[in-house]
Amino acid sequence: MNVLVLNAGSSSLKFQVIATDLERIKQNSDERLCRGQVERIGGNAIITLQSGQGARHKSTAPLRDIGAALDYVLKWLTSAESDIPDINSPEDIHAVGNRVVHGGELFSESALITDQVLKGIEDCIDLAPLHNPSNIQGMMAARKIFGQNVPQVAVFDTAFHSSLAEPAYLYAIPYHLYQRHRIRRYGFHGTSHRYVAHRYRALRQLTREQTNVITLHLGNGASATAIRAGKSIDSSMGMTPLEGLVMGTRSGDLDPSLVSLIAMKEGLSANEVDTLLNTQSGLLGISGLSNDMRALCDELHQHDDRRVRLAIEIFCWRARKYIGAYLACMNGADALVFTGGIGENSSTIRARICSGFEWAALKLDEEQNDKLVGTEGEISAEGSKLRAYVIPTDEELLIARDTVRVILGEPHPS
Ligand code: ADP
Repeated sequence: MNVLVLNAGSSSLKFQVIATDLERIKQNSDERLCRGQVERIGGNAIITLQSGQGARHKSTAPLRDIGAALDYVLKWLTSAESDIPDINSPEDIHAVGNRVVHGGELFSESALITDQVLKGIEDCIDLAPLHNPSNIQGMMAARKIFGQNVPQVAVFDTAFHSSLAEPAYLYAIPYHLYQRHRIRRYGFHGTSHRYVAHRYRALRQLTREQTNVITLHLGNGASATAIRAGKSIDSSMGMTPLEGLVMGTRSGDLDPSLVSLIAMKEGLSANEVDTLLNTQSGLLGISGLSNDMRALCDELHQHDDRRVRLAIEIFCWRARKYIGAYLACMNGADALVFTGGIGENSSTIRARICSGFEWAALKLDEEQNDKLVGTEGEISAEGSKLRAYVIPTDEELLIARDTVRVILGEPHPS
């Protein structure tokens, strides 16, 4: 089955086509036929396209909305230019899998898109006003182009964390705020945490119930999840993705009174403080230089800049704090799993985060840690009781697999 995976944002559309079915899922032999993205939709859009392992092609075209972007992508997919032997006409796309940011309390797993499910995703708009509307536009565009006969599935960022219990998801604020406005912690990056937990268990040949890990998705956005017996029992992002770890431009945890204090001192509105905490804080805010960890690591290496060092130290300190807290909440874990751009590629940051966990019997194999860049494997030394792994995430693959499973009525195994 050729599944078109869509991730529709406010001005961007990322896509992949993945050939998969139940047999391929079992054999881990799914095939990525192509990938690409359209950025700056609404103006002169920038389009990047790549088939198989081929070269990337960049071009520009005026594309007014997500529908026009999808149209453009489909024309390329079915043309001789893309050179994908299995896709020659729109009929060669058999299903569409959509990333949806917020499923609220309505969706605890991936769902076949029906009018009722669409209405549910609309009901979650007030929980993710910047994201869910674009996700819906992606689905509507695909419905218009492919028709009702091509099934579509929604895969939610929040669904994996629906297993959180009340003590983990409720804020200690008046309970009626939860009842009235559904103010609670939801957690995000669920597809990524679930995917790497699934790979970890495949690598170690464990059952789901035997999977006790802390997964660290460290990218531009960052979150940690405590997974006990294969289920998410706590995750660092909250009602919105602002809570938790230090991120590229987000502050993560802070004293909530700071919002009104900063507003008063700087003459800003609550909304403006929210923007400051989301877009001008984190690594960027502390370093004053960049939100990009690789750039900061290079800068530290070359100039030993004090604020760059501080940004990296605060980032790692917060991650270590969450690991410690989760070890306590989940009665110890068997492994830390690093993923996301930073987690997959930066041996320096992994080493900093893992240092000082000797008390938990975690010892890094430094050579392995340096060696594993963007590839999967163990980085802890022999005899470590708390192990450490690097596992590149693949949210699109999980979306494609869930799409197949939902359409064929198979329950998802992890
Ligand atoms: P997003 O959350 O936008 O998907 P990614 O998961 O792609 O982000 O992660 C991007 C982050 O990963 C950036 O901060 C980038 O600098 C960082 N990164 C990528 N490679 C390295 C590296 N070798 N060393 C340090 N950081 C890296």
